[in-house]
Amino acid sequence: MKILLATHNKNKIKEIKAALKDPEIEILSMDDFPDLPDVIEDGDTLEHNSLKKAKEIYQYSGITTLADDTGLEVEYLNGEPGVFSARWAGEDCSYEDNNRKMLRELNGVGIDKRNAVFRCVITLFGENLHKTTEGVLKGKIIEKLSGNQGFGYDPIFQPDGYDTTLAEMSLDDKNRISHRGLAVKAMAEVICRIKKDT
Ligand code: IMP
Repeated sequence: MKILLATHNKNKIKEIKAALKDPEIEILSMDDFPDLPDVIEDGDTLEHNSLKKAKEIYQYSGITTLADDTGLEVEYLNGEPGVFSARWAGEDCSYEDNNRKMLRELNGVGIDKRNAVFRCVITLFGENLHKTTEGVLKGKIIEKLSGNQGFGYDPIFQPDGYDTTLAEMSLDDKNRISHRGLAVKAMAEVICRIKKDT
């Protein structure tokens, strides 16, 4: 079985490949198909964007496609940035710009009010195939950047029950607890059932 990951994000590709260990699945990414178009993520929910990416890339490539969409929902900011997490600090912003904006927005806010949730929605789309799974990771936004593993908001996100940020964890440790790791694990079970039925 071949699965095409609808992303160019090297960190995501690494995380999904590590979490979806199955010798019977060949995992490809959009880097293997330079002519595929980038999908515009203009939906107002993670579910919408995840489905849009998986469906459009499947329609172009003809290969069963897996797409994820992730958002960081911060309680003090009424769930922001959520579906807007990628370009929260501006159109061409870096991960660092987003993290600095988050630290500014939460400046002076006590630790008990810094709760946040990473939510990841994954869609697998192919011929007569449309499956969705979700993974959630609860934690807190800490007061300064810490660690240089991972990507995105990892350096400021401390999962509940841990005293390190996601950016201080190894890939395997992050995958074991993370929103994306859990969503991929659930999808791996779905794939396993599909393989049994065919
Ligand atoms: P995307 O639309 O799924 O690529 O995710 C939107 C944004 O959320 C990304 O640009 C990152 O800033 C952030 N993000 C997604 N996944 C993670 C993660 O696993 N850790 C930290 N930040 C993430």
